[in-house]
Amino acid sequence: MQTFTPDQHGYLEEIAGFQTGVPSTPPLVVAATGADDVAAAVRLAARRGLPISVQATGHGLGTPAEGVLVSTRRMTGVSIDPSRGLARVAAGTTWAAVIEAAAEHGLAPLSGSAPGVGVTGYTLGGGFGLLGRQFGLAADHVRSADVVLPDGTVTRGPLEAGIVTALEFSLFPLRTIYGGGLHFGPKRLADVLRGWRDWTADLPDALGTSLAMIPYPDLPMVPEPLRGKHIAHVRVAYAGSADDGDRLVAPLRALGPLRDTLATMPFTESGTIAAEPPHPHAYLGDNRVLPSLPDDVLTTVLDHAGPDAPVPTVLIIDLLGGAYRRSTAPDFTPESRYTVRALSVVDPDPATVHAAQAKLFDPLTPGSTGRLRSFVYGQPLS
Ligand SMILES: Cc1cc2nc3c(=O)[nH]c(=O)nc-3n(C[C@H](O)[C@H](O)[C@H](O)COP(=O)(O)OP(=O)(O)OC[C@H]3O[C@@H](n4cnc5c(N)ncnc54)[C@H](O)[C@@H]3O)c2cc1C
Repeated sequence: MQTFTPDQHGYLEEIAGFQTGVPSTPPLVVAATGADDVAAAVRLAARRGLPISVQATGHGLGTPAEGVLVSTRRMTGVSIDPSRGLARVAAGTTWAAVIEAAAEHGLAPLSGSAPGVGVTGYTLGGGFGLLGRQFGLAADHVRSADVVLPDGTVTRGPLEAGIVTALEFSLFPLRTIYGGGLHFGPKRLADVLRGWRDWTADLPDALGTSLAMIPYPDLPMVPEPLRGKHIAHVRVAYAGSADDGDRLVAPLRALGPLRDTLATMPFTESGTIAAEPPHPHAYLGDNRVLPSLPDDVLTTVLDHAGPDAPVPTVLIIDLLGGAYRRSTAPDFTPESRYTVRALSVVDPDPATVHAAQAKLFDPLTPGSTGRLRSFVYGQPLS
């Protein structure tokens, strides 16, 4: 079992994650290669009376790790059972690896917007993804989990509280999707917010969509029509034909996008739909789940997360409904229809970002049905 203490070469690389804004210095890191290492780490933490935490890709860091940190980044591997439509993965595997392996058999997983996210953390948080309105949460399709329990014993069966070392879950027959995005310029933000809200009232479950408002930097890497502008980006993932997709998105196209990338694509390219930045950075984020998006909510969103927001903020509203209504996961209720999520880069001062996000979320809280744990970043959950 390889371990790292803060004075050792390799320690910083081991604890580095996608989120760079939650610096941690756990006194001991266990670089696990399998369930035996994880069980040994759990027993060691118990013997020393230390808390234990776990990190895969470090996308979801809330608070700094203390005590013993189990790093699962070496525990990768995917095997597909095409006859049963199942994937079995080691705990540190990312969605990118599952998407590639499943595609060889014409199958797709319930992955989300960013393929670099870890399968285990995502699934334990519920996991809502591109195909979720049709098939439900990733957590609802786990067939079996290998878990090291708090007493150090290892179980295989239903998902239990402890450290997961492997997951087995369902895949779905799907090779291509009609997907991509429509980008609208800053003068259309209010119209697009209302237009997207109205459009989502009656969509088939096979169509997943979100609306992002993004302050694009004035940098050469940003496509010209978006560069330096506050953009509304409607994202679409439709498990259907291009003809039906074109017909469904016609009301949005009528709003006059600056850029239109909607087309049929292999599911292996599904990460291009949201095109989230793949590079580690520091971010603070929170969210609320809402049963509807009345005009006053859209005004709050525009005022506190639009071009005049006190800190640059990426605002994302996801359409839920569909199969999510049948989920038994704790954060989802049948009334959960939209998320409102905000992400701000932490520069220069986290307190300013917290204050700005409070102005957005405080007015939304009374009408909200909850808060998704997976989208609380850089701050405690309570
Ligand atoms: C860019 C980006 C895009 C995202 N897109 C989506 C999306 O589309 N849909 C969605 O639902 N979520 C999404 N998320 C949220 C993401 O699912 C959560 O942040 C998730 O916790 C990340 O898991 P991780 O392993 O990558 O990160 P980590 O920070 O390494 O882990 C996060 C937490 O998961 C738990 N965990 C991880 N591994 C284990 C294990 N083996 N056993 C027990 N607990 C474990 C721990 O509590 C850990 O603190 C996104 C996040 C980011 C930053």
